[in-house]
This record gives sequence, C-alpha cells and structure tokens, in this order.
Amino acid sequence: MQSPAIKQALGILRQLRQITENNIPVSQKLSSILETITGVMQAAASTCYVSVDDSYLELFSTYGFAKDASHQMRVRFNEGMIGEIAQTKRSLALNNIWLYPKFVLRPELEEKDFKSFIGVPIIQWNRTIGVLAVYYSEETEYSDVDVELLETIAMFLAEIIVSPEMSEYKKSLSKSRGLSTKEKIKGVSLNKGYGIGLAVVHRRRQSVTNIFAEDKEKELRRLQIAHQQMNEDLDNKFNSTKLGIGEHVDILDAYRMFAKDKGWYQKIATNINGGLAAEAAVERAYEDMWKRLSASTDSYLKERLHDLRDVADRLQSYLSGDRQETKSYEGKDIILVAQTMGPAELMDYDYNRIKGLILEDGTPTMHVAIVAKALNIPVLAKIKGIFAEIQNGQKVAIDGNEGFVFVNPSVLVEKDFAKKIAEKEQLARKLAALRNLPAQTLDGKKIGMYINVGLPLDFDYIETTNCDGVGLYRTEIPFMASEIMPNVDKQVSYYKDLMDRCGHKKAIFRSLDVGSDKLLPYWAYGGEANPAIGWRSIRITLDRRAILRKQIKAFLLSAADKELYVMFPMISDLSEFEDAKETLFMEYEKEKRRGQPVPSKVKVGLMIEVPSVLFQLDDILPKADFISVGTNDLAQFVFACDRGNPKLLERYDVLSAPFLTVMKTIIDKADEYGVYCSVCGEMASNPIEALALIGLGYKNLSCSGSAFGKVKSMIRSVNIAELSDYMQLLLKSSKSTLRPQLISYAYDHGIEIY
Ligand code: PEP
Ligand code: MG
Repeated sequence: MQSPAIKQALGILRQLRQITENNIPVSQKLSSILETITGVMQAAASTCYVSVDDSYLELFSTYGFAKDASHQMRVRFNEGMIGEIAQTKRSLALNNIWLYPKFVLRPELEEKDFKSFIGVPIIQWNRTIGVLAVYYSEETEYSDVDVELLETIAMFLAEIIVSPEMSEYKKSLSKSRGLSTKEKIKGVSLNKGYGIGLAVVHRRRQSVTNIFAEDKEKELRRLQIAHQQMNEDLDNKFNSTKLGIGEHVDILDAYRMFAKDKGWYQKIATNINGGLAAEAAVERAYEDMWKRLSASTDSYLKERLHDLRDVADRLQSYLSGDRQETKSYEGKDIILVAQTMGPAELMDYDYNRIKGLILEDGTPTMHVAIVAKALNIPVLAKIKGIFAEIQNGQKVAIDGNEGFVFVNPSVLVEKDFAKKIAEKEQLARKLAALRNLPAQTLDGKKIGMYINVGLPLDFDYIETTNCDGVGLYRTEIPFMASEIMPNVDKQVSYYKDLMDRCGHKKAIFRSLDVGSDKLLPYWAYGGEANPAIGWRSIRITLDRRAILRKQIKAFLLSAADKELYVMFPMISDLSEFEDAKETLFMEYEKEKRRGQPVPSKVKVGLMIEVPSVLFQLDDILPKADFISVGTNDLAQFVFACDRGNPKLLERYDVLSAPFLTVMKTIIDKADEYGVYCSVCGEMASNPIEALALIGLGYKNLSCSGSAFGKVKSMIRSVNIAELSDYMQLLLKSSKSTLRPQLISYAYDHGIEIY
C-alpha cells in the first residue's frame, strides 16, 4: 500500500515537474515551486536555502514573506533552526518556534508573523545541499505524514539544486559579487606524496530523479535485476582483480558481504511497496540507516556507513544504467575528487593512473584511505567546498606532504611538482639500491632489520626489502577482514603462506590482538567505556581459551618441522604470560601425541606494551625467549594518552626523556638477561626515532615494509659509539621533546634522515 505522504506527493510532484519544464530562469522556477509547496502544505510562507560551501547556507528563494530577502541572508551550519537542520541532516517540526532555544529572529525575513515551522534538509551524496522550510501563522500540530511529505519534496528539489542550470546561476552570482575561485586549497594529509593529473569528480550516482512509481512489480523486478547484476560484477571484479592480495582486498571482501545483506535489500523492497521508485527506495533505505547509525561514535559503525553509501550509490548506478563514466580519462593520469568514497569505488578506476585522491570528508581510518595508502596514492581530506573549486577535466596538483591542492597549477607550481616527483623517484631508486648491502653502522655494528606484516600484500616486502625476517605478524588483520571467524584450516592457509614466503627467515606470529581499535565484524562488543584499557587482546583470548587454542594449533601446523616464534600481546604480568605459554605447550604436546608433524623448535615471547611489566622484568625475562616493544601502546599507557585522539597528537613525544628512559630500561634489562629484544611499534619505522633507539642500544628493529629503506639508510650512515654518548646526555634533558636536537645531531653528523 502506498504511504499517505507518498500518495499526496505524487500529485504535487506532477505540478512541480511542470514548473521545471517551463522555459524560465532557474530563480523563477524556484519561486514558483515554493509557491506551490506553500499551497499544498497549507502554509503561509516558505524558504529555500542552498548551501554555498558546506559551512553556510544562502537564502535562495522565499515565498509569502513581507520582503523578499533572497540572496541577502546567510546562515552558518548549526546556526538557528535552519543551520541545525543543515548540520544534523535531520528534519525539524516545531509547534511554536518562539519556544525553541535555537530560534533567532531574522529581521530580513520578518519571521515575526509566524508561529510554527517544518524544515527538512535537502540532501545529496549524504551532503546537505540546502534546507527547505514552510512557516505557519498559527501554532500547528504536525503529523509524521506532513514531515515525510516535505522530505519527499526535498528529494525533488535536490535534483534542481544540482542541475547544470543552477550551477550556472551560482557562478553568475559569484561573478556579480566579484568572487574568484581559489588556486591553492588546504586540506589534511592522509597519505604523503605528490601527484598531478586531470580532475575526475567522482559522482557516480546521479540525483534521484525517479521518485515515485505506481507499478510496484516493475520496480521490484528492476531492483532484483540491478542488485543481482551489481553483486555478480563485484564478485567478478574482486575475483579477477589485478591487485593481488592484501588488506585492501580484504576490506573489499567485507564490502561485498555488505552489498549482499538481505536486511538492507528487504528494506528497499518495503519502500518500493510503499510507492517509491527503486532509486528513491534505495536512497530512503540509506537515509533510514544513516539516521540510526550516524549518532554512534563507534568508528566501526561509522566506517560501515561509508560502505553503505558506496553500495547505495553503486546500486543506483545499476538502476539508472549509468556505469560508463570512469572510462572517459583512459590513458591519462587522474586526480579523484570525492565527497567521500567507498573502498570499492577506487577500484572502478585504473589504479595505476590515480595520482591523487581528494576527499571532502575523510579520516585516516577510512577504508578508502587504507586502500589508497596500500596503492601509494597521496590522499588529502577534509577540504570543505572542494566541489565549488574543481571541475571535471581541470588540471590539479596534489601535495600530500604539505596538504595542499593546486587547481590549474601555474607553470612554476608544475615545475616544482615535477622536481619533487623526480626527487621522490630518485630516492626510491637510491633506497632500493641498498637492498643487498648490510644494515650495518659506520662503526661496524650490525642491526637486525625485520618487517611488520598484516596481510599478504605486505608479504612482498620480505623479498623486495631483503629483510632479516618478520618481526611482527599482526594475525588479527586477516581475522578482521574475514566475514566469519576463520577456522583452523583457513588460519593454517594464512600462516603457511607467510612461512613459505619467509623460507629460512624468522617469522614472529603474534596471537590475536583484537578489541579496542581492532574490532571483528562478526563479534559483538560490549561497548566498553575505555576499550583501549578494556577487554582486549590477550585478555580476550585467555578468557575465550578455545580461540587461543585453535590459533596456536594453526601456528603449530603451519610451522611443521620449522622454527616457530609465537608472541603474546598486551601481557600485564608474569602469570598471564605463563598462562598463555602453558596453553601453547599443551597444544604442542597434544599435536605431538596425535602424530602430527610439529615445529622443530618453539620460541615464545611477549610484547612489552603494558607498563606494569616494566616492574617485573627480572621475573619475566628469564622465562621469555624474546621480547618486542610495542611502542604504540606503551607510549599511550606511559603518557596516559589515547593514541587515536587527534587532539593529543602532538602533545607528548616518544622522543623525550621519560619515554626514552623507559626504552633504555627495557633494552638494558634484556641485555642483562641475554634475551633477544626488538621494537615493533611505529618508532622503529620512523628514521629519527629509530636513530634514538639504536643510540639507546637496540640492535633489532621491525618496521613497516614501506619505511624499511629509509631506516636502513639511516643505520648505514651513523656511528653508534658517538650516538650512544649523545643519547646519555639527552636523557638528562627536561625538554618536552628532543626531536629538534636529534634532527640537528643527524644533520651535523651526516646521518641520512629522509
Ligand atoms: C604496538 O602497540 O606498538 C604494536 C606494535 O601493536 P599494535 O600497533 O598492533 O597495537
Ligand atoms: Mg599494541
């Protein structure tokens, strides 16, 4: 059955369409539309605001007010009722505006004659592009039907606001005000690097023009065909991807699951049964989900919303048959510009040609940013209003180091970029040439250099870097990308793959380190108040022993007749370590009894990342075959500073006396007990921080594959004896950061810090 709002809207829409078909300027169309809306909503007046650059809205048209204040009034997002609707993307119906705390009287509008109000956001690609509002002279009780009706009309208005004639109109307004577009725009860098190319504005989905449909059977059929086609294409695309395997592919697999979600499909079908056309039904299903999930602060859920946006756009493009746009720049370097992007969308382009990605929104943990990083694409995010500045086909240069976008770059800028790109390539060649040279200091000290891996994409670095082995295999990463908990066989296939790629080189398997910022999609988490110090990592696997036992069994089976290194994360005291170790050896004995081939040797270690173990090193070290310092977590706990909180990003420095003293204590103790000790946290991947570590006495580092060359180059240009003396001095400093001193030291001593 059609919903009452939709039934009513059908008639209104016919009238509105007639207006848009008239050969009159868009400003006149807008005022006629408002007149019609005011009439059908039995209101006294109405307004239409259009967002100018996502930080404020301009009044574009009014009807029924004493004065026409069009283009004379602007409101910031979150300012007053209109700004609130724009900011929250939620409708607002008020029986008495005068009682609403955010109500601000606008002399320009003479709102004094009005008492009540309904305002709805006009949304496209999940951005507020405007606000539509109707005003009543009397206090009025509204029903959901009224609000839903106005929301449906807003979908239609979105189509007009993004139309080419509207963008021409906006341009002419800017011109008449003497405004020019910017040439250099600041953003936040999510991945470094430089790139130049032609802008491709990524707007896969056309606006929803098709809002209602009477033939439900036909719409359901269209939905079914589009949905099936989309999923078949996704299956083919990901099965035949040229990208090999890696974290990005695992993210894409999770996405594929999402596309097949039955609940979502059902919701769309229900919307069609309510009278919406398939495209609008998809949009409504997305908006419903968005309303429910967007208030959550859970980063996992927020990430899923990005995926959902991507899937909704994709499905709409199948419904509209509009799937060819990515071909137009074939053979040319491109810079993608998107409001936000799902991970799968990046793969619709030839990734070898993508020289940069510009996102209007975006966070470092966004899936598309992770995928772009894996592909070495510079990424800039949080550039509000980018769509007003960049048009398809314009030349754009992106500086991921400083965080700037240049639109139509000047010859000088282009030259500068070409130089930087050439320098980068030259450096990459220089670092690659170090491959077969030893990681040895100028005074002849050999440093063990290992890499951290998560997904098979990283495994390539074992060969390309010629490292000594894998110092940290984050086994939770394949778990995170999996749609269900991987069974023992599946795990064996992951682990054996790494063992095979390592050959005779050592590979340290870390047991599952989930919880906190690493969540498993198939596992319900309790919504802890402090997840970083909550039920996570070894705390989970000791409590859910079967998971640990299965993982250990998979480790043992994958290392048959080889040396196995197992490391336990987040150990807080000796008893936890012994408990985990006992489980490991029980499994080992069990497999042996069963006649399974077991590893020739099993070495067990732990991560040093919870400060309590620093006070028990004398008891723990004699029981451990090796330790590895997880400086990411250790620093967060030593400074009591959330590692994911951007507000604290530059507050504490690991290059400061307190933290370096902690690091020195650990290596001195490990040396005293003759226990192998390495660092596998980010400090080992940052050349200046790694310099401090080797100056403190660390002889083994495990860094990311991409940082390997830079760290090796630093090692090969340093004299450890001199550096150690300098570090002793630095430890006495009371400065909050010793970074400038270390950089000067490196500079003065010809140490290569790239
Ligand atoms: C660390 O904490 O330094 C570490 C290597 O572990 P992760 O970053 O995986 O928590
Ligand atoms: Mg850690």
